[in-house]
Amino acid sequence: MIDSHTHTKYSKHATGSVTELIEAAISNGIRILTITDHAPFLIDKDNRLLESEVDSYAKDVLLAQQSYKGEIKILYGMEFDYSPLHSSYVEKLIRNLDLDFAIGSIHYIETANGRVNNWDIGKLNTKEYCELYFESLEELIDTKLFNSIGHVDSILRGGISEQYFWNYLKNLIPKIKGVDLSYEVNCSGIFKSMICQKTGGHINNKAAFPNFNVIKKLVDLGVDFTIGSDAHKPEHVGRGIKDTTKELQGIGVNSLCYYEKGEKNKVNIRELCQ
Ligand SMILES: [Zn+2]
Ligand SMILES: [Zn+2]
Repeated sequence: MIDSHTHTKYSKHATGSVTELIEAAISNGIRILTITDHAPFLIDKDNRLLESEVDSYAKDVLLAQQSYKGEIKILYGMEFDYSPLHSSYVEKLIRNLDLDFAIGSIHYIETANGRVNNWDIGKLNTKEYCELYFESLEELIDTKLFNSIGHVDSILRGGISEQYFWNYLKNLIPKIKGVDLSYEVNCSGIFKSMICQKTGGHINNKAAFPNFNVIKKLVDLGVDFTIGSDAHKPEHVGRGIKDTTKELQGIGVNSLCYYEKGEKNKVNIRELCQ
């Protein structure tokens, strides 16, 4: 199995050292693991690497890459926040790092009524939020700084319809393909609640994302995919990936990608489903 989205205690709201994450990944059957702690970002210091910690993070990951050689492939990544307000900061940061893999995610949107976080799921269903979200996403794509776009469909937790979401996303597909960006299939949504469109209440037993109907449309349009558990503790590494991979195969996905030194590698999905 491949897991291209995982966090360690460097992300502060996550637990486990780099070594603990890797040991759990080996036990859980992962062969290619990318560690993607949250990159420094100006508006938050409590849930991510600080600039002063980047060297030690890199050292931990790169040392582990050597010491676990032959047992598991370890790749050095980060999950970046993108906001049009801070694009030059992100660009400078990313250009100074020699990453295998960079995920671009949108966790914060500045609306007229203040900041809406991606996990404030009661506030993700407004037209203003969705418009700003997809405007930011378009800019993120245009920067060409990233290899994959993280958990785009996570905003479906807010209870907007699949069709409403697709009406925005479909306009960006030519750009996504144009810059050869992968779309992340993020398995963490299987274990998260969502808002019910009809009642406005929370539903726990339904995964808002990954959304396979959207993914199916992307497959037909020739978009590539990465996959990740988005584990925030060692025992969650690889969680949901096996079943999701089978489901992806069922809807026509032929391969999943991982990145090494920024280069895309495709693995046949049949090899991953054995
Ligand atoms: Zn994220
Ligand atoms: Zn993450």
